[in-house]
Parts: sequence; C-alpha cells; structure tokens
Amino acid sequence: MSSGHGHTNQGEGGEQPGGIRRPGGEFQSPELERAFRADHQAENRRHANTLLIASTILNGLFLAGDWQFHGGPDFAITIMARAAVIVVALVALLLLRRARSAGAMDTILIGWMAANAATVAALVTSHYDTAMFVMLMLPIIYYLAVPVSFAARAVGGAGCSMLMVAGYHASADRMLPAPGLGAAMLVLNVAMILVVSRSNRLERLEWRAVRAARETSAQLAASREQIEKMFAASPVPMIVTARSTGRLIQISDSAVEFFGAGAASVGVTSAIDFYADPRDRDRLVGLIDRDGHVRNLEMRVRLADSSLRTVLVNATAVDLADGRIIMSGIIDISERKAVEQDLERIASTDLLTGLLNRLSFLGRGRTEMLLAGHRGTPLALLMVDLDNFKQINDGFGHQSGDEALRSFASTCRTVLGEHGIAARLGGEEFGIILPGADLAEAHRVAESLRETVDRMPIVVSRGSIRLTASIGVALVDPRDADLDPALGRADAALYAAKHNGRNCVVVHDMDLIRRAG
Ligand code: GH3
Ligand code: MG
Ligand code: MG
Repeated sequence: MSSGHGHTNQGEGGEQPGGIRRPGGEFQSPELERAFRADHQAENRRHANTLLIASTILNGLFLAGDWQFHGGPDFAITIMARAAVIVVALVALLLLRRARSAGAMDTILIGWMAANAATVAALVTSHYDTAMFVMLMLPIIYYLAVPVSFAARAVGGAGCSMLMVAGYHASADRMLPAPGLGAAMLVLNVAMILVVSRSNRLERLEWRAVRAARETSAQLAASREQIEKMFAASPVPMIVTARSTGRLIQISDSAVEFFGAGAASVGVTSAIDFYADPRDRDRLVGLIDRDGHVRNLEMRVRLADSSLRTVLVNATAVDLADGRIIMSGIIDISERKAVEQDLERIASTDLLTGLLNRLSFLGRGRTEMLLAGHRGTPLALLMVDLDNFKQINDGFGHQSGDEALRSFASTCRTVLGEHGIAARLGGEEFGIILPGADLAEAHRVAESLRETVDRMPIVVSRGSIRLTASIGVALVDPRDADLDPALGRADAALYAAKHNGRNCVVVHDMDLIRRAG
C-alpha cells in the first residue's frame, strides 16, 4: 500500500502511521531504522549471546543423550551433526564479540541461523523423540529470538521450516504425512510473521514516541535555559515575585549587583525585604491589580548594606497557571534625586548667608498664611534693615561687610530657633516670619534680636564692627489676598524705625496707620 519515501507521516487511516513499512513493521526511513537498531544494539547483543550460549548448553546436554543410539545406524552422523551445532554456536559467539556494527551482527546471526538449521535438519529424524518439538520450536526461535532485520527473520524462519521438513522426510520411517506437516509449517510461519510484524511496529512506535517526548523536553529545557539566561543578563535590574506572598521567584544579575551581593547570598527570599517602607508594596500591588502594570512608581528600597536608594519601579503582572507574578524593573534615581534636591536647595537659598532667598521667603510666607488662616492662629512678619551699612563697607571693606551679613544671619538663627523663619530679601535687608506670634510676641522677638545684634560687635581682620539693625513689625491679616499688604505694613514700620534714629523696633498698629493716613 505505502510506497512513500522518507519518514513523513502519511496518515494512512491512522492504522498504519506513515514511516512504518508493511509487513515487516520497520521504519521506511533507513536512517530512522538505523538509529532504532543502534539504540537497541547493546540489548540485541545480550539477547544474541544468551541465545547462542543456551543453544550450546542445550545441545551439549543432547550430545550426552545421543549416546543411547550408540551402535545404531545413525549414531555417527548424529554425533557429528550435534557437535557441528555446538561448534557453529561457539564460532558465532566468538565472532559476535568482535562485531561492532548492527550490520556485522546481522551477518553473523544470519550465518549462524543457516548453519544451525542445516545441521539440526540432519538431527530431526523420526527416530528421535523430540524431533517434532525441535522442528516447530527452531523456526519460532528464529522469528522471535534472533535480533535481526524482519527480512532476515522471515527468510531464516521460512528456510529453517523447509529444512526441518526436508530433514524429517529424509528419514525412512516418518510418522506424519508430508502435506499435513507442510500445512502446519505454513500456518506456523504466517502466524510468526504476523507476530513479528506487530511486535516490530509496536516497538518502533513506542521508541519513536519516547524519543519525541525526550526531544521535546530537551528543547523545552533548552529554551527555558535560554530565557533564564536572557533574564539573568538583563541590563536593567529585574525581579520577579509572587503577587500573593511577595516571594522572590527570580532576580537578574544586575539586580543582585544593585541590591548587593548579600541579596542573593544572605538569602533574601521575599521582595518585601527590599522595601524601605513596607506600605510601598501594598501600593504597588494595588496599582498592579487595578491596571495590570505600574509605570515609574517612585519609592525607597533598602540595599544589602542597609543603605537606602530612591528608585522608579516599572512593573507588569503576568498570570501563570500557578498564580499571578509581578515582573519589576528597577531604575535607580538616587543620584538624579540628590542633584534635584541640591538644585532645589540652591534655588531657594541665599548663597552668602545660607538663609532662604526672597522667592522662597514669599512662598513660605503664603504657606504659613494659609496654615494660620486654617488654624486661626496669628502670624507676624519682621522686616529688618541693617543700619548705615554703606559706612561698614566703606570702613572695613566689602569682604568684612559680607562677614557682617553672615554673622547677622547666624544671630537670627540663634535668636529665632524653631520659632521663626529668616530670609535675606536682598542687600542688607532681611525678612522674618513668626508663625503663631501675635504683635506682642513678635515685638518681644524683634527686640531680642535687635538687642543681641547691638550687644555683640563683629570681629573682623581690620577691627571690630558695631552692627545695629532697625526692625519693623506687622501682623499678617488672614483675610488679605496675599502677603503683600503685610509686607507693606512691616516696611512702613521699618521706615518709621529708621526715622526714629535706627537701632530700634517699631510695631505697625492701627495708630500707626492713622498717623500715616
Ligand atoms: P540705612 O539703611 O541705615 O539708611 O543706611 P545704609 O547705608 O544701610 O543704606 P543703603 O540701603 O542705602 O545701603 C545699603 C548698602 O549695603 C549698599 C551696599 O553697598 C551694601 N550692600 C548691599 N548688598 C551687599 C552685599 O552683599 N555685601 C556687602 N558687603 N554690602 C552690601
Ligand atoms: Mg537697605
Ligand atoms: Mg541699611
């Protein structure tokens, strides 16, 4: 039926899968058949050896039994034939030891089958009790137990049967009629061919299935290894965790490097160990469950050496058969963050004194104003201008003037402590916010500052500078739209202080407004 080449599956009704030859049950593809034989060569060799040894031993035993014919007409030929059977088996055994290929083994075993059958044929005379048994058994052995190709088995089995029948008939006093014996042999051979064919086919199907399964799992292992290698080599630190438990499933080499060698060796088994704030994991998982992914989630993580880093996490959920996993890529932004914070600080700070600059003073003032409005607490403002500063510069030099400015800033910090926020608004002009302070309290703080500055001369290289300050005090009205009206009132009070002869504090109050008006 099938005359196809190669080992393509021709799907003949599913009954005879492509690639298996009829009737022998062997592979159509010579390479495949060779591979199958090669896979079974060791086993075949063992079987062949066992068979030949069994034949030697059995015929050795028969040789002893043959002595009963001593003195009979067939004694000499029986002994010689029996000896020949043994010699043939021994020679085949010796040759088999040297045979390397399946082909060489086939040749030796075919030779043995032929020589063995020819000599046994001489023994199966009708005088011999077990002749009938041997006649039927030997072809069966050839079919079932000699590990050669199907063709060799068929030819060997059929040839053996014919030789047996011929040998049996050669003896004068045969007991069975020839046609009956011939028919029995024919049935035996057909049955054996069917059995061998079927067993060949099943063996090969099983072998091919096992081989395919092995190849598939090898391929699977290879591709799995490839994916794991690629993951491990990811240049972006990656970690894979179980959604439900936070258990660490996989971590890339770059992530191990990032978290520190300890991350792997100390045995971090849970990604929860990485979070500086464990609530960040809930935040991440919450977003993952809602959107399936997370983009640039900023958080702090703890490294193996306990140091903290600011990172952006990009994560995606993957639903696997045994649960949801989270794949996270980590970008370290600690340096960028530090630079940002530096820039922010520089942008908001007065470089000479380290106090806030005008811009952040105004921002902070607005914030405090909102807070005060909210809480119903008072908020006071001081405007400070150093007295006759031009003269200080002229007398001691600009550098000493700078020194005096820094010294004043330091005095402000000391006097205010936690209670006020000082800023350099420009030149030798300063502003101070006093959250929670009413006019009386603000006046007290201003007087304390003025008095401290007045009391402590500033020592510079050219001598000692006596520094004084004029201070205007005003209350912020939470009903104002912004800080400007309060700044204006504090400025007016400062102007009044200068007018009053400097080195003094003036509080802006309603009287002052009336007087100014
Ligand atoms: P008063 O305020 O008491 O009326 O007199 P003043 O001499 O302080 O008056 P004015 O505001 O006119 O002068 C401020 C001086 O402060 C002018 C400038 O030379 C000096 N100045 C401003 N900024 C700096 C600075 O950054 N460093 C130094 N050394 N001097 C500065
Ligand atoms: Mg001034
Ligand atoms: Mg001044």
